[in-house]
Formats: sequence, C-alpha cells, structure tokens
Amino acid sequence: RSHPHPPTRVRPLTCTEARRGDRRVVHSLGGGTVHVSAARHDATFGFSAVFDAGASQEAVFEGSGMRQLVEQAVDGFSCTVFAFGQTGSGKTYTLMGPLAQSEDQPAAPALLGLMQRSFTCLLEQSRSRSSDLALSASYLEIYNEQVRDLLSPGPPCALPLRWSKTHGFYVENQLSVDFESLEAIADLLLQALDLLLAGSQRRRTSAHALNKHSSRSHALLTIHIRSRAVSARARRARTSPPMRIPQPSTCPSKQGTLCFVDLAGSERVKETGSSGELSVEANNINRSLLALGHCISLLAKPQGKRAHIPYRDSKLTRLLARSLGGSGITLMVACISPSSRCLSETLSTLHYASRARRVTARP
Ligand code: ADP
Ligand code: MG
Repeated sequence: RSHPHPPTRVRPLTCTEARRGDRRVVHSLGGGTVHVSAARHDATFGFSAVFDAGASQEAVFEGSGMRQLVEQAVDGFSCTVFAFGQTGSGKTYTLMGPLAQSEDQPAAPALLGLMQRSFTCLLEQSRSRSSDLALSASYLEIYNEQVRDLLSPGPPCALPLRWSKTHGFYVENQLSVDFESLEAIADLLLQALDLLLAGSQRRRTSAHALNKHSSRSHALLTIHIRSRAVSARARRARTSPPMRIPQPSTCPSKQGTLCFVDLAGSERVKETGSSGELSVEANNINRSLLALGHCISLLAKPQGKRAHIPYRDSKLTRLLARSLGGSGITLMVACISPSSRCLSETLSTLHYASRARRVTARP
C-alpha cells in the first residue's frame, strides 16, 4: 500500500499578477499532466490528478483522495494531509478556503476548503456507519523551531517535543479539546471551526515583500477520532428516553487521526528582501522544509536501499515522522502559481511532488 499520489493544483493568476502582465507558463494538458513552458524550460510532469485554475474546491476534495483519507482515519489509521509550494501558491486556500472578510461576512460555502469539507464528511460517516465517534482536536504551530499550542489561552509558550518507545514523537502538555459525540456532533464541529479561527488569528504573520499575509509558521490541526460500534439497541435507547441503562457495546474501539498541515512558504531570503528577524524566520522555515524534502527523498528510495531517515533534523519532520514513515497515510497536495515570475519555485515544487510519488507506506 502507498500514500496516495500527490495531486497538483495550479491556481489562477491573481489580479495583481494579471495587472502587471505576468505570463502564464503552467498549463494543464489533461490526463494528469502539467506542462511548463518558458524561455529555456519546456517540461511535462505527470500526476494522479491535476486541478487547473477553473477547478472548484469541491472538485479538489473529491478528486484528490481526501474523502478516502477521512474514511481511513475513521477506520483507525493515522492520516495526514499537507499542501506544499511557495508562499502565495494557494496552500491555505486549498486547505481552508479564502479567509473571511469579516465575522459577519464568512466565505461562501462553495469556497470552503479541504478542512471544512472533511468535517462535514466525518459527520456523514458517523451517521452512516452506526458507530459512535468521539472527536477531539489539537492545534499546534511550529514557529522559529518552537512548538506552540494554538488552543491554550494566554500568550503562546513553547512546548517540549519528546520521544517515547510507545508513542514515537509527541508534544508534551498539548491541549486537546473534546467534541463529545453523537447528537451534538454538528455543533461541536462548528465549535472546532470557531476554535480553529480563533487559533488562526493568533498565528504568526508578518509584513513581507513577497506576500504580506504569508504565513510564517507551520500549523498542524489534528482531529483525534475514536470510533466504537454501537448496537442498534443502544442507538434506540439514545433517541427515546432510556427505560434502562443501555448495554455497553462490546465492539473494540478504533483510534485514528486526521491531521491538516498548513506549511509556511519556502522562499529565498534574497528574493523576498527579508532581513534581521525575518531572515532568521525564513532560515528556520527553509531549514524545516529542506529537512522534510530530505526525508521524503530518502523515503522514496526502495525499502532495501533506504538509509537512516533523519526525522530529528527539524521539529516539523519529527511531528510528521509517523505519518510519513510508513505507519500513516499522507496526502500531499502540490500547489503552484501559473506566473512566469514563479518559474523556478514552480519547477522545484513539481520535482518535489514527483519524488513524493515514490514514497511507500505500510499503514
Ligand atoms: P499560500 O497559503 O500558499 O501562501 P494562499 O492560499 O494564501 O497561498 O493564496 C494566495 C492568494 O491566491 C490568496 O489571495 C488566495 O485567495 C488566492 N488563491 C489561491 N488559490 C486560489 C484558487 N484556486 N482560486 C482563487 N484564488 C486563489
Ligand atoms: Mg498560507
């Protein structure tokens, strides 16, 4: 069994790019191929799925394998989805949709991203599978190689990242918020979204020459799903006032996770005009992305030829070790800009995605 092959999404040219006359150098040719053509470059890449500028958020959810990933998480697997690509390539848009203009002007439902669609899907699953799902969520960011809890009240403080034989890498004292289950599940999912948005506002963003709103931290939202089959009798007892205590279910419980990772963008310090504190940030971001790339290229080698995988090189790779390293299932979505100005980053994202295709898993 393998991780699903990474799909690629090419976003439309933004207004700014169109206004300044950027050329579109990336085209989808159909049949899962992306063609890059510019002055000295002419290359075609093949993927499991390619979403071009016209693809809807729904098409990305259905065509990327995200629905299957949610189902696998409910089945007890550790599942992870992350978008990668340079700043401004559409990672956050793909995961969460466009950010709401204001509190009373939320984004249109059609524009909601993989995350909200997965929540809806979880809810459908819990209804159709006659299983009782217990959900809880945790939300972390990695900023300047520090792990911080986005759900804890007060100023963010760094949490230690530890390793144990039974758990692998884990974050100590990480907060996890319960969504109780069953009847209230819809409310609780919405509540999680509120928490998420509250968390989002506290995410580190800083003015930046390339993209003012670019995220400078890696954010990881994990939904813990514990499922326990419920007998029909117990189910009836819940809907009508119980006459007697329902029989506890004897089915074993399954525990899966669904983790959404919004990576900070990669960029060259020189190009983006970062200086001082910003260049320390950029170096830390690039270091963890490099470590991630390095782990992925080693994992892409045939099992027998694999060297030691250096997960310990960054906090990001430690936290992703379980999902990348074979006991989890990871969906990676490559995000690229069609603009001629982004050519070199686009090529590197496409090469990276091609390499990730060869990573196998044994969930
Ligand atoms: P990243 O998270 O990779 O830095 P964003 O998701 O913030 O990039 O996207 C950059 C800009 O492009 C945002 O203004 C976003 O709304 C817009 N954008 C990205 N993808 C799309 C898309 N598929 N359709 C329309 N606009 C998009
Ligand atoms: Mg972003």
